[in-house]
Amino acid sequence: MQIGESKIRILLVEDERKLARSLERQLARLGYEVELAFDGVEAWEQAQNREFALIILDLNLPKKSGFEVLEQFRAQSYGTPVLILSARDKVEDRIKGLQIGADDYLVKPFDFGELTARLEAILRRGGVKRMAILQAGDLTMDVLKRTVKRGDKEITLTPREFALLEYFLRNKNQLLTRKRLAEQVWGYTFDTGTNIVDVYIRYLRKAIDEGFSRKLIHTVYAQGFMLKDEA
Ligand code: CA
Repeated sequence: MQIGESKIRILLVEDERKLARSLERQLARLGYEVELAFDGVEAWEQAQNREFALIILDLNLPKKSGFEVLEQFRAQSYGTPVLILSARDKVEDRIKGLQIGADDYLVKPFDFGELTARLEAILRRGGVKRMAILQAGDLTMDVLKRTVKRGDKEITLTPREFALLEYFLRNKNQLLTRKRLAEQVWGYTFDTGTNIVDVYIRYLRKAIDEGFSRKLIHTVYAQGFMLKDEA
């Protein structure tokens, strides 16, 4: 995502609050804007009020089931793509879900990587351009292939370093405070008093800036960090 481009908004309908919050955090970390609905009625209301690029829909929901919500959407020609995320693993349920207009169906328990791959596939089909190739200067990240290159040099990162760099690239030329990085990349919503952000910045600098005359990651004194792309 480039500066100024608005984030892709996802509606997550899930009544298991712990799971909902954890998914919200993980998706936010990838740069999505996530709104939550905890029952079928709320899902319907939220979808009326705002536009979403994608809806992740649980089936067993209070007040109104996911099937009912989906039927209601489609009856009103509401075209937003829907990915069903449900513990219901019967073939009949999957068929029904797809028949009444879901774009995909993923059974719980699921792997978060698979969920993001599937939702990115749906968003691609839907023509929403969430940039899969991120760049700053001579550094390139392929978000889908999970590769990073600086010039001709392939760079290997741990998943956390990758997430941190992805967040920098999606918010380049912006001051990112330690607090914001801790929230967005680690999911910390409170001050943990750790220096984990600084530790990882150090790892990341070693991986992407060491040996290059132009540094990408800059310290903003007493405030935080910035990935500068002056190209
Ligand atoms: Ca449920």
